[in-house]
Amino acid sequence: MKDTFSKVKGMEFPRYVQVGHGILDGLEQLCKDLQFHKTGMIITGSQTYKTAGKAVEQIMRDAGYSISVHQTGATTVENIDEAIAVGTERKAKFILGVGGGSKIDASKLVAANLGIPFISIPTSAAHDGIASGRASLKLDRGPKSIDAVTPIAIVADTEIISKAPHRYLAAGCADVISNLTALKDWDYARRLRAEPISSSAYTLAEMAANSIIASADLIGRGNEEGVWEAVKHIIISGVSMSVAGSSRPTSGSEHMFSHALDLMHVSNAMHGEQCGVGAIMMMYLHGGDWEAIRNALLKIGAPVDAKGLGVMDADIIEALMTAHKIRKDRFTILGTSGLTKQSAESAAKMTKVI
Ligand SMILES: [Zn+2]
Repeated sequence: MKDTFSKVKGMEFPRYVQVGHGILDGLEQLCKDLQFHKTGMIITGSQTYKTAGKAVEQIMRDAGYSISVHQTGATTVENIDEAIAVGTERKAKFILGVGGGSKIDASKLVAANLGIPFISIPTSAAHDGIASGRASLKLDRGPKSIDAVTPIAIVADTEIISKAPHRYLAAGCADVISNLTALKDWDYARRLRAEPISSSAYTLAEMAANSIIASADLIGRGNEEGVWEAVKHIIISGVSMSVAGSSRPTSGSEHMFSHALDLMHVSNAMHGEQCGVGAIMMMYLHGGDWEAIRNALLKIGAPVDAKGLGVMDADIIEALMTAHKIRKDRFTILGTSGLTKQSAESAAKMTKVI
């Protein structure tokens, strides 16, 4: 009998993950271990340059690297194009992304375009993108998630991250907790659409979410130990995407709800905050334990309702009713025709979101 086996899979992982107090001091050794060329570029923001970028620049200069600093803003096409041009002109052979989610995303996009490696050095941990290969690009119609490049290393200094406002870390934790509904959606798609599941990616994403829920009290205290506990699992969540080869284990109907809110331009809440609130309602729709999600978010200090997100009740309803249109290729509990107004209202009310 002819062998018809034809499965193929590739995974892209970070080579080094360093987390902990004062870990930034080991950056020189890390760059040596990675055999980086002597010319590199730091991509950072005006604020994050002050909190960590300047220190990174000093460490690299002292180590004999020719390092330039490029400060950028939001991840718009114009800003990314500008950073690519600067990187090309300065002949950068590696990038150090120093900042919150948007600066890390910018580094990913520039590194992917120039075909050079980058190190993710987060100054806050507001979502699991600090460890993944996917980047969010800001377009006029809303953010678009695209494939870029996985960081070759992650240097998450808990001392630096603990100085960022607690709201950022709480949002990052909410983003990871929302894996629980993304995973329910994935399993739902497996049962209804025979979509293939990676059980390794599934387990990693689930473990990351459950670990953060188990440490919710500690994380809510807002000290460095809580940052340590949270960041490890935020990174594991990112790694689950590397294993799956897509954002499937970490992004389902709750992320579609968040993107629907983004498209309405009514919310100033953070990505993770919206996903957390979305997860409460999607878990209700799945018939799962939405109260466990809500309680964990409350303990951590993340929003659990419309008021906490700073949006109107009607906005929540509209986002729930339009969320299914966001990614038609991603089958979720929202199905293909979405929620009726009555069911959206009832889900939001039952879960105390409105
Ligand atoms: Zn997310």
